[in-house]
Amino acid sequence: MKILFLGTSASKPTSERNPPSVALQYNNGEFMLFDCGEGTQRQMIKKVSPMKISKIFITHLHADHIMGLVGLIQSMKLNGRTQLLEIFVPKDTIVHMKTLFSIPYFSADFEIHVIEAFDQKIEFDGYWIRPFPVSHGVPAIGYVFGVNDARGKFNKKLCDELGIKGEMFSSLEKKGTIEVNGKIISIDEVTGKLRRGKKIVYTGDTEKIETFPEEAYNCDVLIHDSTFISPDDKKDTYHSTVKEACEVAQLLSAKKLVLTHISQRYETKEVEEESKKYCENAIVAEDFLEINL
Ligand SMILES: [Zn+2]
Ligand SMILES: [Zn+2]
Repeated sequence: MKILFLGTSASKPTSERNPPSVALQYNNGEFMLFDCGEGTQRQMIKKVSPMKISKIFITHLHADHIMGLVGLIQSMKLNGRTQLLEIFVPKDTIVHMKTLFSIPYFSADFEIHVIEAFDQKIEFDGYWIRPFPVSHGVPAIGYVFGVNDARGKFNKKLCDELGIKGEMFSSLEKKGTIEVNGKIISIDEVTGKLRRGKKIVYTGDTEKIETFPEEAYNCDVLIHDSTFISPDDKKDTYHSTVKEACEVAQLLSAKKLVLTHISQRYETKEVEEESKKYCENAIVAEDFLEINL
């Protein structure tokens, strides 16, 4: 699985940074996008195939997070896409997405489902998403992306000894226990250890919040709004400072913190130096940064 930062600026592009978008390449080659700022499809060239994007998770409808959608969808159409595209948005914002897609001559020849994401887990094939509310002055959500936990393989020799065979395996997988020759056997006894699936938390734009769903804790990567260094610059913008992002990483026991949505007023080096004061495992995102998980 790979995380690719396509855009890491706050509000507008700079010579080094594109507006926000993060691509996630799942194990099977499927891609997902988190936000889709202006110019995202150009950032994708030679790195992300538009045809392999199955889902786009939008955190909120500020222009810097959605203005790449229309162009990207037009390119998908020109490339002859037939596959469904799912776009997840915060509650009460479908109406605005309809407005966005009502520009002249815009159409797609494939199905697009725009889905309002509520404060609950959504299961997919092999992975899940847990949207959660953040605080940004407009309807806004963050997402926890998680891969399902995976069990080790059956211990063949042991299963033979215990008399587990045929359809008993699928029954054991389904129920967790099975009775063989009058003895109850649990799946844990005859398989390798459960391997915990990787988890990524993406906050999108938000001021510091302290309430997260339990799925967000102990994440492998936390990608957090870090628009400002100084609280004086921040004022009442509903964004976070580097220090606040580091505090959230600590709260969630995140293994790695990636600071993104960087204001144009700062050099990357300044943001790095600020983060070092509070957090050892923080890095500052730059466009085209890749993280393998
Ligand atoms: Zn933004
Ligand atoms: Zn915003």
